[in-house]
Amino acid sequence: MKKRVYLDYSATTPMKKEVLDEMLPFFNVQFGNPSSIHCFGRENKSAVDKARSTIAKTLNAGVDEIFFTGGGSEADNWGIKGVANALKDKGKHVITTKVEHHAVLHTCQYLEKDGFDVTYLDVDQYGMIKIDELKAAIRPDTILITIMFANNEIGTIQPIKEIGKIAKDYKITFHTDAVQAYGNVKIDVKDLGIDLMSLSAHKIYGPKGIGLLYIKKGTKIHPIIHGGAQERRRRAGTENVPAIVGFGKAAELAYENIDEHVNQLVTLRNRLINGLQEKIPYIHLNGHPTKRLPGNCNISIEFIEGEALLLMLDMVGIAGSSGSACTSGSLDPSHVLMAIGLTHEVAHGSLRLTIGDYTTEEDVDYVIEQLPPIVERLRQMSPLYEKVKGGR
Ligand SMILES: *Cc1c(COP(=O)(O)O)cnc(C)c1O
Repeated sequence: MKKRVYLDYSATTPMKKEVLDEMLPFFNVQFGNPSSIHCFGRENKSAVDKARSTIAKTLNAGVDEIFFTGGGSEADNWGIKGVANALKDKGKHVITTKVEHHAVLHTCQYLEKDGFDVTYLDVDQYGMIKIDELKAAIRPDTILITIMFANNEIGTIQPIKEIGKIAKDYKITFHTDAVQAYGNVKIDVKDLGIDLMSLSAHKIYGPKGIGLLYIKKGTKIHPIIHGGAQERRRRAGTENVPAIVGFGKAAELAYENIDEHVNQLVTLRNRLINGLQEKIPYIHLNGHPTKRLPGNCNISIEFIEGEALLLMLDMVGIAGSSGSACTSGSLDPSHVLMAIGLTHEVAHGSLRLTIGDYTTEEDVDYVIEQLPPIVERLRQMSPLYEKVKGGR
């Protein structure tokens, strides 16, 4: 078979075998509805409770603070719209950033149409918010701050503890999208001062279509899915038991050897970044040099077009992403790369390679071998590159 190298772990991850094995009985053998009072139901209620408790422990959260959702996007929608609806009589101002995932950004834009005022904070060249600008943006009618934990495109990790402290000082609810951070960073919600947090299972080797919203006890929030009394009357709908069980197992595995996992990713990522930087002129790393996700390598390659690069990489079996998976298909450059100050041209020549648990040294070396000649071939078609090269 042709060699295939998957370097798009930020888009999604394969499920671990242990996760799949744990889930399988819940599709047919142990199929009861957790709300039923008979033993079929009760067994499944305890399976759901067990997963909830496993996940709560990884976050230093209470079991009654974990609410399962249909994924990270739903959790983001709920956290933001739910707080906006609960607190709109108190104020209608929300603070977020220009580099959020679309699940946050588009939800904020929806709120704007509904009469809310949203401040989109700028970031510096590394994608980091400035704490002074956050403080300056706070108004008497600010009800919510929603700032992502770690960026899905460039990997930058925000100063969450500082943001949490400011939110607390000003008595503003603080939501964070931690979908990318979970499993890669140790998260203690109490220590970090987080009120609401979105997570998703399929980014940590769990199943797709399951996520959660952490809601700190006492936080004012309305439901967005109305119906039955599931999730303590806050998120209706029969529980996706197999997925919840899988999420619990994936969380357990992720935090069992997190240090080892992070070290492995950082080693391979640095090998990749250094290897590419050595072999390809006119490239640079996007995102923060140190405060970044362990598996993230996002580089801008001048004088090439990212989409063409992705297609040529695909032909040699390498799966990466240009900018964000969510914007691929559109010709607009990534909002994140624009926010860190790249020009349209440079943003279009950007490549995101994200490493995960199944990435090997051999995979990385294969990319370091394949990418430079592809870049060189694409650059030959660039009149600008010919000029720069000629001038050297
Ligand atoms: C993937 C992702 C989401 C969306 O999660 P889904 O479970 O796919 O809906 C939200 N935020 C970030 C930062 C992500 O990376």
